[in-house]
Amino acid sequence: MAETTVKKLAEIVGTPVDTLLKQMKEAGLPHGGAEDAVSDDQKQTLLAFLRRAHGTPSAEPQKITLKRKSTSTIKTTGASGKAKTVAVEVRKKRTYVKRSVIEEQEREREEQERAERERLEAEAAARKAEEDARKKAEEEAIARREAERAAAEAQAAREAGGEEPEAADASADKKADDKSKRVSVPKGSVKKAEPPKDETPEERAKREEEERRKREAEEQRRKQEAEARKKAEEEAARRTAEEARRMAEELEKRGQQEPEKAPEEIETGSGIVTEAMEASWRDEERTTKRRRRRPGSQQTRNVVAHGQMKSSFHKEHGFKSPTEKMVYEVEVPETITVADLSQRMNIKAREVMRTLMKMGEMATVNQHIDQETAMLLVEEMGHKPRAVKGEEQSLEDDLANLVQYTDEPQPRAPVVTIMGHVDHGKTSLLDYIRRAKVAEGEAGGITQHIGAYHVDTDKGMISFLDTPGHAAFTAMRARGAQATDIVVIVVAADDGVMPQTEEAINHAKAAGVPLIIAVNKMDKESADPDRVKNDLSQLGIISEEWGGDYQFQYVSAHTGLGVDDLLDAILLQAELLELKAVPVGPARGVVIESRIEKGRGPVTSVLIQEGRLKVGDMVLAGAHFGRNRAMADENGKPITEAGPSIPVEILGLDGAPESGEQFLVVADEKKAREVAEFRQIRDRDLKLKRAQASKLENLFETMGEKEAKQVNIVLKTDVRGSLEALLGALSDMNTDEVKVNIVTAGVGAINESDVNLAMTSEAVLLGFNVRADSAAKKLCEREGMDLRYYSIIYELIDDVKKAMSGLLDPEHREEIVGVAEVRDVFRSSKFGAVAGCMVVEGTLRRNLPIRVLRDDVVVFEGQLESLRRFKEDVPEVRNGMECGLAVKSYNDVKEGDKIEVFEVRVVERSL
Ligand code: GDP
Ligand code: MG
Repeated sequence: MAETTVKKLAEIVGTPVDTLLKQMKEAGLPHGGAEDAVSDDQKQTLLAFLRRAHGTPSAEPQKITLKRKSTSTIKTTGASGKAKTVAVEVRKKRTYVKRSVIEEQEREREEQERAERERLEAEAAARKAEEDARKKAEEEAIARREAERAAAEAQAAREAGGEEPEAADASADKKADDKSKRVSVPKGSVKKAEPPKDETPEERAKREEEERRKREAEEQRRKQEAEARKKAEEEAARRTAEEARRMAEELEKRGQQEPEKAPEEIETGSGIVTEAMEASWRDEERTTKRRRRRPGSQQTRNVVAHGQMKSSFHKEHGFKSPTEKMVYEVEVPETITVADLSQRMNIKAREVMRTLMKMGEMATVNQHIDQETAMLLVEEMGHKPRAVKGEEQSLEDDLANLVQYTDEPQPRAPVVTIMGHVDHGKTSLLDYIRRAKVAEGEAGGITQHIGAYHVDTDKGMISFLDTPGHAAFTAMRARGAQATDIVVIVVAADDGVMPQTEEAINHAKAAGVPLIIAVNKMDKESADPDRVKNDLSQLGIISEEWGGDYQFQYVSAHTGLGVDDLLDAILLQAELLELKAVPVGPARGVVIESRIEKGRGPVTSVLIQEGRLKVGDMVLAGAHFGRNRAMADENGKPITEAGPSIPVEILGLDGAPESGEQFLVVADEKKAREVAEFRQIRDRDLKLKRAQASKLENLFETMGEKEAKQVNIVLKTDVRGSLEALLGALSDMNTDEVKVNIVTAGVGAINESDVNLAMTSEAVLLGFNVRADSAAKKLCEREGMDLRYYSIIYELIDDVKKAMSGLLDPEHREEIVGVAEVRDVFRSSKFGAVAGCMVVEGTLRRNLPIRVLRDDVVVFEGQLESLRRFKEDVPEVRNGMECGLAVKSYNDVKEGDKIEVFEVRVVERSL
């Protein structure tokens, strides 16, 4: 391209000539006037300069942070039994980072690593060079020393020998020549000194005198030699030091001349001085680390040393505060206080709080923030965050380490689960085995059902986990509990392989548990075991008879045919597995089931997998803990201890743990409490999340997060008629965008399985003129599920409609103020039917509307006529008190009914 002028260039780029000239001057170009020619090279120089000055232009943002805040309320029941409303604000924050930015960071990191590697290599080379130099200097010193010593020797010999200087000289020369360090008397003189055969006393005296002198001379020579050596060494050291100083000087000069020089080059060959500097740098680093470490904290912090900073130390011969910001790698646990975090970043807490506020988060110094927020914050403040395991995890690790078994493991009984398609005879088979094998009459026969039992056969013991159903099996596995050693798949011979058979096989295979096939109902005429074998072979389950690996047993749960063979097959499989457990020491195992019983409190059945469980042990199970107050076996018989593979029932935990949770005995009650508390917090968070999803008000938002917009509903009504009306109306609400999906619908009280279904399918629970039964209510309370009761069809429809469009506000909510149970009904001439009641929930209030519930279905809605306690009219009756009441214009109250007092409140939904 042809050359152009400054003026033309200014026109092209669209800047005033003056500005361009100024920029060119800054870029170090010689141009002074508008007509000066500009070459291509110069243009490039200018361009490069401008780029450097402005940085790479980036019009687009590199990082986008989206924030969303939603506010809602939840209702809880306080300690006093009074319901209260708590505002809950959920903040979400997502940061999207451009891919290019990430790539850039990745490249930078690689670059850094490479630089570091090179630096290390250079360092090694320098060290080697230094070593070589030192070796050379040493060698020279030795040579010098040799020469000097030889000279001294010669001198000494001369002094000593006197009359034969020649011989002494010669021998001294020889010594110097062969550089031998060995000190010995010169050969010549020794020869000379040999006593002649005919020696006179004078001669001997003379010889002895001579020898003495020689010895003295020798000694002196040695002294001189030592002195000479010392001198030579000093000289060498001086020279090395001088050399080093010279190098350092040169280094400094070079450093000043070429400030851009990479640190590794500077370090090359910088012998002693560099090392000293480095040592002091390391000292500095160590003190910095120590100072920043929080007292009592086990967390260590890595200080990332930067080449830039390090080289400045080398160059300046001193310590200067770093000009560039230090980047720390900051460890971020699951939760951390603002104060702690600021300390880790070495930034003032005030600064950190300000940044947090900019991110839309308000927190005080001592407030905990979650890991996600903390990670974003650290990044925002220019440091490198690194997520670390939470305190809870380390607590659990501690626990695991706490229990260590030293004794030899002993063989133990296998634990078996029976799975298979519905109606193929799982229950029947278990019942048969139990009937046949568990001694009747033991503590009054089988009265308890604890979800597991063991049988003793002639060949050994087997424990059965009596929680059939694949969900239970998978739930246990999901919690990491592998309770089962062997799975028996029951297939009905007259029905063949069915969907759940296949599912069961998949579950067992996924768990890596060996399978035994029990072909059941062999007593039936339509039994076709070959078909079963055929079906199963297609699933890769090939019978031993056909050369496969799987044991097939042909049984009948009705006649007992083949059941003994099945038990033998189980024991054979168990033998192959070589199941072992330590029978002594603290017990460990898995929770099978748990429930809360009136008068007994939480009752938990557990399967012991290792160690020995004793009455009085401190037990931690899931999020609960407590002392094992009493223990019973599967027949309800009290026992004091139990070993591996034995299912037992224990009392004394502070709550009911979920099935599948691990349990273990801990010596330290404090630790048990700590872990249980941590787990409770974790579970509460989970519940809160689920509760949010179950609320009708949040329907719109949760809908938005799902791919296909769908409203899941679990609906229960009082009668068939209202159910059909509601189902019709709800299905009419289907639009192209949103589908109403009825997960389940039916008549009657809301029961536990409804709640479970709603929970797993993220559905809203709606009751029309029905209530949740007490088990369901408890489950809802425990899991934080929202329940909505309606008594007017159009209100229910309206609410769902509004929720679907996100317009459900303000919130009209019925709140149940109190519930009383009718214990007795008698007639009064004045009021008609009078109900003697016990208040079981909240408070009854005279002037509020009421409903009469029978089997949790609303049978009447109205008002109270009177409310009395001991023949006196009272405005209210509290929980746990007895009272008498009459319902206005309703005379049909029955024993066992419930009287519910409610109130309609408007809850403002705030943003
Ligand atoms: P589950 O659903 O797998 O627990 O199956 P059940 O044990 O409840 O059994 C379902 C039905 O099959 C019941 O009516 C049993 O009486 C019947 N049944 C179970 N085992 C046998 C058997 O060996 N022979 C016959 N004839 N019927 C059986
Ligand atoms: Mg069954």
